[in-house]
Amino acid sequence: MTPVHPHDVAAVTDTAAANPTPGMRLEGGWVIPIEPAGAVLADHAVVVQADRIAAVLPREQAAEHYPELSAVDLSDHILIPGLVNAHTHAAMTLFRGCADDLALADWLQQRIWPAEARLVTPEFVAGGTRLACLEMVRGGVTMFADMYFYPDEAIAAALSAGIRMNVGLVYLTVPTNYAKDQDDYLRKGLQVWRRWHDHPQVRFSLAPHATYSTTPESMQAIPGLCSEYDLGVHTHLHETAQEVTDEKRDFGMTGVARLQQAGALGDRFFGAHGVHLDAEDIQILADTGSSVVHCPSSNLKLGSGVAPIAELLAAGVNVGLGTDGAASNNRLDLWQEMRTAALLAKGITGDPTVLPAHQALRMATLAGAQALGRGDDLGSLTPGKQADVVAVSANSLAGAPIYDPASALVYALGREQVTHVWVAGRQVVAEGVCTTVNEHDALNSANEWLPKVRGD
Ligand SMILES: [Zn+2]
Repeated sequence: MTPVHPHDVAAVTDTAAANPTPGMRLEGGWVIPIEPAGAVLADHAVVVQADRIAAVLPREQAAEHYPELSAVDLSDHILIPGLVNAHTHAAMTLFRGCADDLALADWLQQRIWPAEARLVTPEFVAGGTRLACLEMVRGGVTMFADMYFYPDEAIAAALSAGIRMNVGLVYLTVPTNYAKDQDDYLRKGLQVWRRWHDHPQVRFSLAPHATYSTTPESMQAIPGLCSEYDLGVHTHLHETAQEVTDEKRDFGMTGVARLQQAGALGDRFFGAHGVHLDAEDIQILADTGSSVVHCPSSNLKLGSGVAPIAELLAAGVNVGLGTDGAASNNRLDLWQEMRTAALLAKGITGDPTVLPAHQALRMATLAGAQALGRGDDLGSLTPGKQADVVAVSANSLAGAPIYDPASALVYALGREQVTHVWVAGRQVVAEGVCTTVNEHDALNSANEWLPKVRGD
């Protein structure tokens, strides 16, 4: 396969730049801006100029103040900010459904790691990430945090689809096709950082796979690397009861406590899962301003347990949402995660007032953006922020009648009702069809991997 260079993708984005959208008025039946919390604005327009939101106004006022901008009639739609999938392994879509109904240790050791050793190449990552980005963007996801190998190819696939990406520079003690040891992982990761860190739709995190799969020395190196390269920290955190038990045995403390001791926690830290956290861990996460990415479907499917989301939120911890990889979910569907998170929190606490619809929406948008260090620029329909906007059809049997649009979004509607998506003011989904990637090509190339993954 031809190696990917930033120039190749720049050509794709230049095509969009050559046909700039001066602006538009997205006239929604309802706008749920996320900020201020709980607001539902009927008959409002989101005014977009270039890549930013200029205003959110009643429809008539928007027409009066911005007559030069074209209007997009979305009067039977609900407008929300783009969804943020704060933890995934995009390329693993090619393993979707190939190893189901197994415990995490068996799933990883018997199925996923051997399959990765056999198959994961730059071509695999390019094909898998392309499929993942298409699935996500069609479902209203405008940014995702990824953790996988060969990030050059993943970045190229994301930018071709027009979706934002937080690239996890992964490292672990296990050798892979991609790298032979932790130094090799880091060296390769930082080469990718050098090529792409100036791109406006790409951000980077240091991504130690998990506290149990990195050495104490490399954990100590996290703060220095993060400040030198302006990186967040993205890791798997307290996913299973067994790993917490083992870590206490081996290190005399939990993974959260070890990260705190290494100086790795803080407002640029986001840990995926957080299923098995005790009161002390939760307090440490709250005190350090760290984020947790709740991945309820993956935790349920792998039998890992249910994260203490009500306790985390009560302690003031920022909680975003993630799908995890398609091999353990099997959907890259933030709507499913929103709904599952809300239902699980109620079921497990016995309190139906926990995690109401507006809070679930916030987790899927602004809280995810904050976890990824982008809360100032993304995650809400606020003037001055980037114009990442999703339109959801409210004219649907699945949602009718709509008394409360936030409730409809979380409990009744889903990604099937997402019709239009803009990222930085550029339309990437129109009438339910991706405008950036040829869907048939992506599907055909995904299907070509099936016999190879199955070992035919
Ligand atoms: Zn994961």
